Amino acid sequence: MKSRYSLSLGKPFGIKVSVHWTFSLLIAWIVLISVGRGLEFQQILMHIVFVLALFVCVVLHELGHSLAAIRLGGQVDSITLLPIGGMAHLSKMPEKPKDEFLVSAAGPMVNVVIAAILWIYIAIFQTVDFEKMEFEAITVHNFPVMLLAANLFIVAFNLIPAFPMDGGRLFRSLLSIRMSRLKATRIAKDIGQIFAIIFIIAGLFFNPFLVIIGFFILLGAKGEYEMIKYQEILQDYTVNDIVKTEYAELDEEKTLGHAAERLVKISDNGFVIKSGNDFKGILSKNDLINGLNSHGKELKIKDLVRTEPDHVDKDTGLFQVYQDMQRKRKYLLPVFDQGEFKGILDLENLHEFFQIRKATQ
Ligand SMILES: [Zn+2]
Repeated sequence: MKSRYSLSLGKPFGIKVSVHWTFSLLIAWIVLISVGRGLEFQQILMHIVFVLALFVCVVLHELGHSLAAIRLGGQVDSITLLPIGGMAHLSKMPEKPKDEFLVSAAGPMVNVVIAAILWIYIAIFQTVDFEKMEFEAITVHNFPVMLLAANLFIVAFNLIPAFPMDGGRLFRSLLSIRMSRLKATRIAKDIGQIFAIIFIIAGLFFNPFLVIIGFFILLGAKGEYEMIKYQEILQDYTVNDIVKTEYAELDEEKTLGHAAERLVKISDNGFVIKSGNDFKGILSKNDLINGLNSHGKELKIKDLVRTEPDHVDKDTGLFQVYQDMQRKRKYLLPVFDQGEFKGILDLENLHEFFQIRKATQ
């Protein structure tokens, strides 16, 4: 999730936690429903506090996944809170079935622990008189019980085997013990999609959030399956297999205006920038357009192009590069061979390469 749509909440354990702007819609929705039900101001406030408390539990749930992933060698960039729940963005995911099982289970386990703590609290302080308790609205009295129930609901809901929800991941990890990860993902994805359709249909009658969750599952399952497919196909290749050694060149003394005129005449997505025979950097189509926007066409290329650009080694695995390029939104990278410039790697070519290999598999 892009950060400009999110409000940063802090960085526990080095993981950026932020809340997406759509979360405010959830609060607005609760207020609307509460007003519609004729609740008083204090009761409405109570509902909002409850939702915030619930989302603290959701953050802890995501932190559970994240810390387990980090412990097992994964990498977590951030956690984003959406009205339908939390999302941890992992840039590296533990893939062994056992590790994936632990990472997936860690989230719901956190909610089990929270529920247990609330239960102990209720038992010790006996704040709850179940006979007199009302469940129509959230009050100071039933707050801990409602929060406990909500946490148990989170556990139960997450354990539904609808990949890529936690239960679906647990299911895939169990399948992967006996079959390839690709096949396990395909089965988990198919079952996930059945659940997604059930969610969407049920949601139309009962709860709009279920519809949104259903669509998230549909897209998420498809995306993750594609990713595994990429991994399966690309893992046997390195950058060297698709490096382009013929490319459009420009001298670093030329202007952006000159580059723009030439861009329409070439088939590449950018230029290799040189000074004489020396490699100086890459000017991608996007960099050029951004550069023209902010500096105008008189700027010299050398004032825009970084002298030490990101680059990849020719022996790097193609899948790893693919993931990095997607994540960093890089479409063009220089390829080096033992410190010497060798050619360019274009994300578009990488996609084509994948499509061809997939079609001829
Ligand atoms: Zn989870």
